[in-house]
Amino acid sequence: MTENKKYNGWTNYATWRINLEMISDQKFHLDESYIDLCKKGDPYKLAGELEEFVLEYLLDQSGETLTYDYACAFVAEANFYEIAEHVIHDYELAHCGNCNDQLNYDTSYDGYCSKECANEDEVLLTHEKG
Ligand SMILES: [Zn+2]
Repeated sequence: MTENKKYNGWTNYATWRINLEMISDQKFHLDESYIDLCKKGDPYKLAGELEEFVLEYLLDQSGETLTYDYACAFVAEANFYEIAEHVIHDYELAHCGNCNDQLNYDTSYDGYCSKECANEDEVLLTHEKG
């Protein structure tokens, strides 16, 4: 753990809590458009989408402008880039590196769903280099 991780391994309290309550639970993961961003592995783009998702949810939940304004001040404290990196990392751990199928940990092959996928990905990588 590095020194700038101040709250349970996260940048700060807001980052920890928003990730815990809004991102790492299933609410967020169900949306297909976010899965595309995970496949591309682009934390900058995903961070923006995550923040938008959180703000929209809070706007829906808050009846008053003042409530929403206060909530926004909290959200502004959060490091969404850090959250996005975690989301992408979790996605990569749970999906095949070649075909993006959900991995079954009992039968997965070093980050791939099958030996065939592992070999195929290796061929592609070698081909790009050569
Ligand atoms: Zn696969």
